[in-house]
Parts: sequence; structure tokens; C-alpha cells
Amino acid sequence: MGFLSKLIINGKNQLSVSKNKNLVNEIVNHTLFENHPESNDKNPIQLIGNTQDISYKNVYEERIHQLAFYDSLTSLPNEILFTNRVKDLINTNERFTVFYLDIDQFRNINNVVGRANGDQLLIQFSERIQMILPFSSMLARLSSDEFGIIITDYMDIENPEVMAKTIIDCFNTPLFIKEYELYLNLTIGISIYPSDGSSYEAILNNASSALHRAKSLGSNQYHLYSSKSNINSLKQFELERDLRKSIDNDELVLYFQPRVAVKTGRIIGAEALIRWQHPIWGLVSPGEFIPIAEESGFINNISDWVTEQVCMYMGKWKHEKLELVPISINITSNRFVRSDWKEVLTNSLKNHKVDPSLIEFEITETTLLQHGKVVESAFQYLKQLGIRIALDDFGTGYSSLSHIKDFSIDTIKLDKSFIQQIAHNENVEVIIKSIIFMAKGLHMNIVAEGVETHEQLEFLKQQECSEIQGYLFSEPVPERKF
Ligand code: C2E
Ligand code: CA
Ligand code: CA
Repeated sequence: MGFLSKLIINGKNQLSVSKNKNLVNEIVNHTLFENHPESNDKNPIQLIGNTQDISYKNVYEERIHQLAFYDSLTSLPNEILFTNRVKDLINTNERFTVFYLDIDQFRNINNVVGRANGDQLLIQFSERIQMILPFSSMLARLSSDEFGIIITDYMDIENPEVMAKTIIDCFNTPLFIKEYELYLNLTIGISIYPSDGSSYEAILNNASSALHRAKSLGSNQYHLYSSKSNINSLKQFELERDLRKSIDNDELVLYFQPRVAVKTGRIIGAEALIRWQHPIWGLVSPGEFIPIAEESGFINNISDWVTEQVCMYMGKWKHEKLELVPISINITSNRFVRSDWKEVLTNSLKNHKVDPSLIEFEITETTLLQHGKVVESAFQYLKQLGIRIALDDFGTGYSSLSHIKDFSIDTIKLDKSFIQQIAHNENVEVIIKSIIFMAKGLHMNIVAEGVETHEQLEFLKQQECSEIQGYLFSEPVPERKF
């Protein structure tokens, strides 16, 4: 224990330690005040220099080891021990596989269930995974909701992808924490020594970039790092590099996807959806670049650009004497944090003489909870202007309708993952029915997203869902076609 010998007391019970201060504080407090025969609470003895001769050395060494290398919540190995294990395996040139796991939306779950329950969730989460891992593997907690696994024993796993799938599937049954029944989604990145790198940095970086790649594919996804994915890394790299210039270079375009009244089949609105016409990669979908934009903060510029474009088109359509329908704009709650959003919005509305009641802001259920207070006051302002508010991707987060009723939401957009299970999953049908029923009770408009089949439409009609949006009627189309 190298740092024990560096313990020094500076005057009154003050300890100065070169490495882990809290850790050593704890040990010395025990040593001085509880266990040393000549000390008591009032008269701690002064200690200068080497403490290696203490009689409880072994116990403390074990305690120090525990604190230094294990996570105190889950008792799993921590990042240091995890990295050391990777280094050791590389030194002995053993083949092994690293998995990086990330719990999707853990922060939101924490917000909803509370921190103490969130802690319980992490404990149960790690216990459940440990049950399915081969005995010789290591599961470590790397940060709040990131975990790592090292697998060396290839007798027990057919291949890493099967393993990743098994891990994801073991959360098909919920975790029960107090009154909450929680279904967890995970994302997993995988890299293999020696094929994916020869140093511990390379192996860990590649597992991490595989994790990012998996995230861009959606939730409950895994991705195996391999040279094949280098093409994706190159694309990712170039998109990150070029995104900032996309607005100035005039490369962003808006598509519009109609919203249709179920009863009449008429177009009664549309959603503005962004596309990026990249000079090399062609038409890039928002799923690929919105996450990059969110990470860099450029999403705020994009939000402003979309708002301005929608207002510009509204002005143009009005000028061309076309029939106007409300247009909805996707906005992340982050935009409300920087206060200049009001000015940007009112300027766009004014410049193009747009009636605010023809604009709707779509905000996702998950980001709604991230900035609760800011969003609440932003909504009040929007309401005063006459702008409508829709809750996007409803059902993918953890809020219930009663949870969000205080936010004065006009429209609920039922996520396409629900709609696509119509006729396949009776339980989901029951959920859809009850969401439609409750939304009506709260006087909210309800839009079913991702409607692709007549069967789905028929079901929604029976449930008296008011609007649909989906490929069955139309994909998102360029402005002219719209
Ligand atoms: P979203 O807001 O949930 O948009 C609906 C997505 O569902 C669109 O994908 C749309 O093309 C797709 N979709 C519509 N009907 C169907 C269907 O019948 N089947 C299937 N499989 N998909 C359907 P898109 O255009 O790729 O956009 C993806 C996401 O990117 C959007 O999801 C939204 O979250 C984000 N996004 C798009 N434009 C913007 C924007 O201007 N600002 C922001 N912040 N996010 C945007
Ligand atoms: Ca949307
Ligand atoms: Ca949506």
C-alpha cells in the first residue's frame, strides 16, 4: 500500500495525503480514534510518517483495496480494476472480449423514480447480468450507468453477438423497485483482443466507439467493432466535421409529412422533418446527425433554422394562396435553456406574417422531463403566443399521462413502436386503447405515428384515434410535392 506511508498530520486532525484523501482519512480516523490504545475522541495522538506497522494492517489493506478498486454501490469492480484486468490480459497475450453497456435514458428514469430507487435499479441490474455471465468473466461499473464486461472463457459463449443479445433479452422481464415496474433498454459496444486492437487503449476506445455506433442505431442495440465499421467511423467523423458548415453551405432541407384526419382522410397538418444533403454522403437522415448536433450544441442553430424555414414557407404558401394547415416543428427542450429563443421565434413569425396558431412545437417525452421548470415556463410563453404543443414519441419514456397533465399539452403523438405492434401484440393494443381513452379524457388530441398498414388504420379507427401520420398515407416529401 504505497500511499499509506505518505500519511502526514498537519496540526489539528488535518490530514494531507498525496493520493486518495477521503480514503486515507477514513482509515486514519479509525486508527487514531477507535483502535489505537492511547487515543480517544478528545485526545487524538499525533501521527507523522509511516503507518505501515499498524496492527490492523490486513483489515485496512483489505478495506483500502475494496474502496480503491470496487464500486461502493454495487460492489462491482470499478474502472481502475477493469482497466488493470485488460492490461494484464494483454500482457499475457490472452484472447478476450470487452463489452461496454449503457442503460438507455438512465437519467430520465432516475428523474422519474428518484435517486434512491435509481440506486436500487443499478444494484438489481448488475445482479441480473451477473447471473448470466460465465464464471470467469468480470462485470465492472465504469461510471454512473455504464458497465463493462470482460470475457475470457469462450467455452460458454458461442459468439459475442449472441452474448450481447442474451444480455439485452434478460431485461425483457421488468425490474421491480418499490411501486415501479421498469423495463430497461440497453446499448452494447463490443471489441475483441487482439483482432480489434493491440493495446488496452485501442481495445477500450473501440468498444466505446462501437457503443456509440450502437446508440445511433436506436435502443436495445449492440454493435461489434470491426474494420468493417471503419467506414461508419469515417462517415461519422466527416459528418461531425461538416455539420457546422451545413447551414451556411445551404445543405439542409425540410421535408413535410402529412397528418391525416382518420374520419375524413383529409390532410389537416404536417410535420417538418429535416434532411441533410451532404456533398459526399448524399441525403443524410436526421437519425444520423441530430445526435451529433445535440452533442455539439449545434442543435440550437438547427432549431432556429427550421423555425425560420417553416415560417418562410408559410408566408410563401399564403402568398401563393394555397390552403394552409398547421405545421409542427421538432424542438429539443435544450433550446429553451438559452434565453434568445423567444426573440428568434417572434422575429420569424413577424417577418413572414405567420399566424402562430398554425405552428405546433413537438417536444419528446424524455426531454420534457430533463428541464422541467424551464420547459414549463417556455410552454406558458408559447401558449400566450397561441402556439400549440405536442408531446412526441409518447410511450417511449417513463411518464404517464397523469404525470404530464400539468404541462398543458395539446397533442399526444403515440410512438410508432406501439403502432407497429397492432395485430401482433394484444397487450400493446390494450395500452394503445387506454392511452387514447385517457388522452381524450384530458382533452388532448391524439396522433398515431408510423401507420403503415390498413390493419393498423382499422384498429385506430375503432378506437376513435383522431389523426394518423405514416407511410400508409405518405412518406415525408419535399416542399413542392407536399
Ligand atoms: P420523429 O419526430 O418521431 O419523426 C417521425 C419519424 O418517423 C420520421 O423519421 C418519419 O420519416 C418516420 N416515419 C413516419 N412515418 C413512418 C412510417 O410509417 N414508418 C416508419 N418506419 N417510419 C415513419 P425521420 O424523418 O428520419 O426523423 C427521425 C427523427 O429525427 C425524428 O423523429 C425527430 O426526432 C428527428 N428530427 C427530424 N427533424 C428534426 C428537426 O427539424 N429538429 C429536431 N430537433 N429533430 C428532428
Ligand atoms: Ca416529431
Ligand atoms: Ca415521433
